[in-house]
Amino acid sequence: MPPAPEQILSDLVRIDSTNPPGNEYAVAEYLKKLFENTGANIKIVEPEKGRSSFIARLGSGSKKLLYLSHSDVVPAGDGWDFEPFSGEIKDGVVHGRGSLDCKDLLAAQVSSALQLIEENSSLQGELIIAAVADEEAGGRLGAGYLTDKHSDLIEADYAVNEGADHPIILDGRMLYFLQVGEKGTAWCKLKAHGKSGHGSIPTLADNAVVKISRAVSRLNNYRSEVILIPEVKKLLKNLANLSGVKIDSIEPDQVDELLEQLPFDRSFLESLRSMTRMTLSPNIISGGTKTNIVPDYCEAEIDIRILPGQDCEYVESELRLIISKDIEIEFTEYRAPTFSSSNEKFYKLMEETTLEMAGAKALCLPIISAGSTDSKYIRSAGIPAYGVGHMAEGFDPELRTTVHGRNERTDIDSLHFKTEFFKKLARKYLS
Ligand SMILES: [Zn+2]
Repeated sequence: MPPAPEQILSDLVRIDSTNPPGNEYAVAEYLKKLFENTGANIKIVEPEKGRSSFIARLGSGSKKLLYLSHSDVVPAGDGWDFEPFSGEIKDGVVHGRGSLDCKDLLAAQVSSALQLIEENSSLQGELIIAAVADEEAGGRLGAGYLTDKHSDLIEADYAVNEGADHPIILDGRMLYFLQVGEKGTAWCKLKAHGKSGHGSIPTLADNAVVKISRAVSRLNNYRSEVILIPEVKKLLKNLANLSGVKIDSIEPDQVDELLEQLPFDRSFLESLRSMTRMTLSPNIISGGTKTNIVPDYCEAEIDIRILPGQDCEYVESELRLIISKDIEIEFTEYRAPTFSSSNEKFYKLMEETTLEMAGAKALCLPIISAGSTDSKYIRSAGIPAYGVGHMAEGFDPELRTTVHGRNERTDIDSLHFKTEFFKKLARKYLS
């Protein structure tokens, strides 16, 4: 018998894989032992010392399903009510850093595979379990390295990863989310040049700080074009109807008005809003050296997040509409948005599996994330990837706030729910 999922999660939490430095090798070694003598094909890939990703493959056949998670965690920080790496199991809860992001997912995926082996399930295809390093620092040494250098190890028809919000309860129904896309980043620097001079006679000079502040103020007044990806339209329509807001179809110019009427907390509403448009946030301004010198240079750094379908060209053309010509635009970091359609059969299978478990009253809806996960690498490698954040009925919605925060923990019921979900899904797809 394989260990219970909560035991695996507890063991994983006790392995401190805080990134930096990561030390994911210890997780990989632990997983290797779990899969010993199971007949699974094991590979550990280590691009840099200690930064290991673990891959187990079971079954054989042409169909391939990838279960992806990451084995590193963010630093715990101070102020916890319990020891962050205790992994203590108490009162139906597993305690510690990583228990929701995302060693729980890892434990559930691994448990589902071990249980399938134990039950002698004959899979008509391959199930690939990948617990990869470095996600919390961008994933270059984990999913990035694998897709780049060892794509054969994780090549699959579909992937399931982290990335969806936890379910919400609306009108007595559990709403589960399936993440189908992630926004991209198009960070840029606005650069203004002017003419230096003495601060006592500023009219002789040309002030670069003033130019940038004008540009930033225009950015602040800019209203991004609302774009409704069909999946987001479906999400909004369902949320509206379940909230008692009668609406037949949603057009872009109705979105903000609709959001006003939805009965959700601010953080959920704003995350919905972010799924409908590019966002711009001017976060750093640097310029000037002395109070009595008119500055001849100033720059502003803008965090811009774009929707699937948008790119640098789009950003630049929008910026050019609002910012004067003499200000230079330089892109400092670009990561394309990624998207996997909800029209795929596999998406329907995930939906079907979720509803089978959660009951007919539950509902599954697609979402787009403002942030990103390793799915960006997987999707860019041509594998449709979907994010889940499944929890069992009765879970504490407050748990969400412990991710990357203090007192991270998860309930065992949700862990079992996830394990069962992955088991059923693998059986369905690989049959
Ligand atoms: Zn994560």
